[in-house]
Amino acid sequence: MSDIIRTRFAPSPTGFMHVGNLRTALYEYLIAKSMGGTFVLRIEDTDQERKVEGAVDIIYNTLRKAGLQHDEGPDIGGEYGPYVQSERKNMYLPYAKQLIDNDKAYYCFCTKERLDMLRENSDEPGAGYDRHCRDLPKEEVERLLAEGTPYVIRQKMPLSGTTTFEDAVFGSISVENAELQDQILIKADGYPTYNFANVIDDHTMNITHVVRGCEYLSSTPKYNLLYEAFGWEIPTYIHLPLIMGKNDDGTISKLSKRHGATGFEDLVAQGYLPEAIVNYIALLGWCPKDNREIFTLQELAENFSVDGISKSPAVFDYNKLEWFNGEYIKAMTDEQLAEVAEPYFRQAIKTKPLDFVKIAAILRQRTTVLSQIPEKIAFFEEQPDYDKELFVNKKSKTNLENSAVMLKEAISALQALSEWNHDTIHDCLMELAAHLEVKNGTVMWPVRIAASGMTVTPGGAVEILDILGREESLDRLNKGLAKLS
Ligand code: GLU
Repeated sequence: MSDIIRTRFAPSPTGFMHVGNLRTALYEYLIAKSMGGTFVLRIEDTDQERKVEGAVDIIYNTLRKAGLQHDEGPDIGGEYGPYVQSERKNMYLPYAKQLIDNDKAYYCFCTKERLDMLRENSDEPGAGYDRHCRDLPKEEVERLLAEGTPYVIRQKMPLSGTTTFEDAVFGSISVENAELQDQILIKADGYPTYNFANVIDDHTMNITHVVRGCEYLSSTPKYNLLYEAFGWEIPTYIHLPLIMGKNDDGTISKLSKRHGATGFEDLVAQGYLPEAIVNYIALLGWCPKDNREIFTLQELAENFSVDGISKSPAVFDYNKLEWFNGEYIKAMTDEQLAEVAEPYFRQAIKTKPLDFVKIAAILRQRTTVLSQIPEKIAFFEEQPDYDKELFVNKKSKTNLENSAVMLKEAISALQALSEWNHDTIHDCLMELAAHLEVKNGTVMWPVRIAASGMTVTPGGAVEILDILGREESLDRLNKGLAKLS
């Protein structure tokens, strides 16, 4: 095995990147980067029936958006290519034949009909293959092969004893060999199964650390028997805890669509920032030494360590993700927010040439998910029809009568401004309040209601007038005044 740490992300192109898969990719990346190693991308497409058009692009896009740049992979190549299993198809059969020669595997000629019948006649669900071809006489095997009988190649599991392996997270795990199925290594179509290909590829690609979901724990003894059969060094196994979702009744179960979006792209489409998602999922199963929460990818790589990974199930908490997202939005500059949120601005602002950076400034502290934006800013494009009762506000000491006075005064003061910007509007309205000897709120409230038509707005009267511009602002204030007269 090489001295340098080599990890691999080995997704199957299913057309969907579950947050659990992304977490696997992230941990592989972090383990490699935290130890100066190499992060490899390998596409596991041996299941030709499950192939999905465009699925590989989703993998590339996700890794790119998440910032997980691989060092070797199908698109950039590398010393250990090809990095797509279907392109490695011819590499696996010689290894399977080597196992047959060493009595660790065998040809199986059972027909689909026979296997179906076995399954139907079995009392135990999942009882599996009855090892019918395991001890066929050599001559019989040669005859069937010579006749061109279709076959698969199966692993010959030991019938007694135990297999034990160490997992960096789950510790020492032992299974009775008698419980292990004679699993298929090479399928009838000549493709290897995932179970075989992952071992051959991890070895031939010099992978030192295998990170994957704990659903693979039960298969790992079978992989170890393969490593042993070949006399190969076993990689470090790092199986990750399950990701659960909270049910309405307070219980938890495996994270699924009914808990909310589970795909990276879906979360992004809902207005979560890739950086926030990555930060949040880093903490789903890994705990930093100091309980810190906010980490850039670079900081994660500096702080990550395998011994911080927990084996207890992690609960995906959408509220917590939203909190992270809000923190990331707050930490942006107005310009950055205007840029990433532009599609959301455009959903609401279709005709008016408004300054998105100024709008971003009033949203930044108040937005936790980008998809909240269109609704919050729709009033800039079109003022909702509002009731004049909105002008009445106890705290600001406004009623229908004094609101009319305030609007009238504000209109004439604002009209006189030679320059229309945040500071001139601000000073103008403050001076007006002082001059009229009323609370600032007594001026600001009716101005904001007339400008927006809403009691709750991102930003105050000054920001809203500044964003709307002189003409639209005065027009709205005049309409408000008309409503009150
Ligand atoms: N292709 C497998 C999957 O997508 C990868 C499992 C592994 O990392 O070994 O689940």
